[in-house]
Amino acid sequence: MDRTTMTGTVVKVSGPLITASGMGSVHMYDVVRVGEKRLIGEIIELRSDIASIQVYEDTAGIGAGDPVYLTDMPLSAELGPGLIESIFDGIERPLDALYKIWGDRIERGVSVPSLDREKKWKFEPSAKIGEKVVSGDILGAVQETEAVRHYIMVPPGKSGTLTWLFDGEATVVDPIAKLVNDNGEEETLPMLQYWPVRRGRPVAKKLSPSEPMITGQRSIDTLFPIAKGGIAAVPGPFGSGKTVVQHQLAKGSDADLVIYIGCGERGNEMTDVLNEFPELVDPKTGLSLMKRTVLIANTSDMPVAAREASIYTGITIAEYFRDMGYKVAIIADSTSRWAEALREMSGRLEEMPGEEGYPAYLSSRLAEFYERAGFVKCLGSDGRYGAVSAIGAVSPPGGDTSEPVSQATLRIVKVFWGLSSELAYKRHFPAIDWLKSYSLYEAKMAEYYVKNISPDWPKLVASTKALLQEEADLNEIVQLVGIDALSPKDRLTLSAAQMIREDYLQQDAMDQTDSYTSPRKQYLMLSLIHAWHEMGKNALEVGVPFQKIESMKVCERIARMKYIEESEKEEVFASISDDCDKQFTEMVEEASADE
Ligand code: ADP
Ligand code: MG
Repeated sequence: MDRTTMTGTVVKVSGPLITASGMGSVHMYDVVRVGEKRLIGEIIELRSDIASIQVYEDTAGIGAGDPVYLTDMPLSAELGPGLIESIFDGIERPLDALYKIWGDRIERGVSVPSLDREKKWKFEPSAKIGEKVVSGDILGAVQETEAVRHYIMVPPGKSGTLTWLFDGEATVVDPIAKLVNDNGEEETLPMLQYWPVRRGRPVAKKLSPSEPMITGQRSIDTLFPIAKGGIAAVPGPFGSGKTVVQHQLAKGSDADLVIYIGCGERGNEMTDVLNEFPELVDPKTGLSLMKRTVLIANTSDMPVAAREASIYTGITIAEYFRDMGYKVAIIADSTSRWAEALREMSGRLEEMPGEEGYPAYLSSRLAEFYERAGFVKCLGSDGRYGAVSAIGAVSPPGGDTSEPVSQATLRIVKVFWGLSSELAYKRHFPAIDWLKSYSLYEAKMAEYYVKNISPDWPKLVASTKALLQEEADLNEIVQLVGIDALSPKDRLTLSAAQMIREDYLQQDAMDQTDSYTSPRKQYLMLSLIHAWHEMGKNALEVGVPFQKIESMKVCERIARMKYIEESEKEEVFASISDDCDKQFTEMVEEASADE
């Protein structure tokens, strides 16, 4: 008997959770279709023949006695050409295609494949007939967008001798290769692969990250860098700038591909992404940002269960592109909303609640997600490397990071960009708190900057951090005894720290030039501030009054250096540096003449 015609029976409906009997032959995480509308669900608990089903669509109208159809398939992602530039929901239903068919009110239970079955792609073979191939070997490629070449790989678990290879236009389901496996059986491969979303895709070897993911955000690249293959969290209260930071990374980072998950946040934020990203130009390729982006949208107005699945769908797509040898970034806004979906499902399952009602497995689920990021040697005999960097926003209620989702996240991630409501209130953006944030990749990433930017880099970064710490210490003294009690040298320290904060760390995401700063320009900016500070200290020693140093003309030029175009930076910075030298020399000569 065809198992897909076998059914169970609904016994209870509790929002997105349905309990069904007669389910003795299913497996955990199998997909089922519920009711005559065939709503999409997934088995999330099994007790003898009673199954709990998480349903990814509105369950209104479903009742006891309705049938449950089995599919015998775990919840899987479709992987192949057509992913880029698409907008999917949490279970990879193509929202753009669905909107075209249904408009705003998407009919429930509709089966639209994730990847277009009609569209033809030009498959260009690169493997050789007669060759022995293994999982991960590249058979050929499709130029999916102007920015991304999509390599078609032998799927995990398959290997054999190639007997036939297609050359020409094909849909994702058309055969493009045939191989004879070790058992002598012939297998036909299309471009389309499936992968169960809750399992990580295999790699040859996991390695420790060695290269920074350049983001163009000064406070991140300079003070708290993330590696390609690194994991970072952006916790912060409402309005502190989590979404803007993540958008900046999606726009400016030097990842080959970006998977952006709008997870349980307001729908209008996703609309912003949809309107803005196609218009924005990727500085690396000069093409629309969408040419390297996959969007997954499960906003707060969409079914809660699909939100739970969305991060797994997203990271599966990220791993698939990683396997081709790409450096992928996955950005999830917000993991707190994801955790709330998990809590809601757990509550309906009547599981024993842990802290603040979250299930006891919250941390292990979060870890399972983040652990799928990393820098890896990919499957395949050419020995290529790929990376998935994961960045998750955390939105603790009231901004209090002692709550369970923040705490669980902090135990896992290696980079912490803590956003502060105080800084946001003062409109210091990005509101990354320099005293609380950290990156465990800093030392390793410094090697890259030493090699590619300047041997001075680690010293500059250390001086910057020291200056900000000194400022915090001095501020405590100022609170007690007032600013006049400070020595000129301390006053100078405060001025230099202010320069770091206002002229360097503050970065306006809305300003076309300031929005992105190359590592070289970061180096030039930082060098200049520290040079000014050093010359200032020398000037004080020969008797130049602090007030004169503080009001030097060059300070105005330093304050505007963030608006210097990348194309003009070398000349302009050289000229500011000259100015700085000259003005100090004049003041020092004047002071010596006075003596
Ligand atoms: P959150 O996601 O934490 O609730 P948002 O990212 O939506 O906060 O940021 C709230 C507002 O703060 C933005 O609408 C913007 O006005 C301002 N903002 C945040 N970061 C920046 C930035 N880097 N540059 C300029 N404005 C910013
Ligand atoms: Mg937000």
